[in-house]
Amino acid sequence: MTAQIISGTEIAKQIREELKTEVASLKEKHGIVPGLATVLVGDDPASHVYVGSKEKTCQALGLYSERHDLPESTTEAELLDLVDKLNKNAKIHGILVQLPLPKHINETRVLYAIDPKKDVDGFHPVNLGRLLIGDPDYLPCTPHGIQQLLIRSGVETEGAEVVVVGRSNIVGKPIANILLQKKAGANATVTVCHTRSRDIAAHTRRADILIVAAGRPKYITADMVKDGVVVIDVGTNEVGRTAEGKRILAGDVDFETVKEKARAITPVPGGVGPMTITMLMLNTVKAANLAHNIQ
Ligand code: NAP
Repeated sequence: MTAQIISGTEIAKQIREELKTEVASLKEKHGIVPGLATVLVGDDPASHVYVGSKEKTCQALGLYSERHDLPESTTEAELLDLVDKLNKNAKIHGILVQLPLPKHINETRVLYAIDPKKDVDGFHPVNLGRLLIGDPDYLPCTPHGIQQLLIRSGVETEGAEVVVVGRSNIVGKPIANILLQKKAGANATVTVCHTRSRDIAAHTRRADILIVAAGRPKYITADMVKDGVVVIDVGTNEVGRTAEGKRILAGDVDFETVKEKARAITPVPGGVGPMTITMLMLNTVKAANLAHNIQ
């Protein structure tokens, strides 16, 4: 069997086109431009790249974006002060504080200070709690992107055995909770594996849908999956550099061998990655709608 390749690049493009139309109509009918503020503390080169592409995507879709680059020496109090100002700024509907923050700043305190209505990353406990009880305004971007990849490529989740490898707060736990909700695009039976799980392969071999977010390059090999599995590879591992200095990425799944057994699989890059920023844009547009009571 050669797998259908689930292209995050293509599906993200579709969603961005839908968002462009919605943004144009919000402006035309209501005079509203959804606004995203990004906050970056320090000089981490990868974080600069991520924030840069978020800004570019905002521009491409017609969103207002505001970038706050703060020096590494910024204190927690200064950062909290900026978050407070952005919470009160009516032009800003979404706030994204790029992680990781420098060690002297308590990340949790900063994330908790963001107004849940502007928490377009979906990391605030109010939003995670609402996700858990099935009444979310915002879903965290990467897990939401994974669900959209499944829905838009016609993968049935209802009744499916889903196995998630990884239990982080930003990927593993939220995707497990999203897929077990009593809703369309969910209704799955979900197992979550982690480093203390016994015999991971026994779980992964049962999966109809396998979602891997472990951060271990090529960890899932062909002998760990069953024929006809659908594989979503969240892993984004830098495994080297090209002569030009470009990052070489590998997923958590051994793509070449697993694709021979899978029914469908996401590539790395070009799978989950492009969906994450797209869902951030979707949350920002939703935040603007909610702020103005537009259904
Ligand atoms: P994380 O916080 O490092 O968590 C990794 C999880 O995987 C942990 O729960 C860990 O278990 C589990 N794990 C690690 N090794 C394992 C093993 N050998 N067997 C079973 N479980 C194992 O990672 P994350 O933030 O969720 O990210 C995971 C990967 O996804 C990374 O490669 C990251 O770069 C990528 N990612 C991509 C996107 C995107 O947009 N494409 C977004 C987010 C993350 P314990 O809890 O027991 O330690």
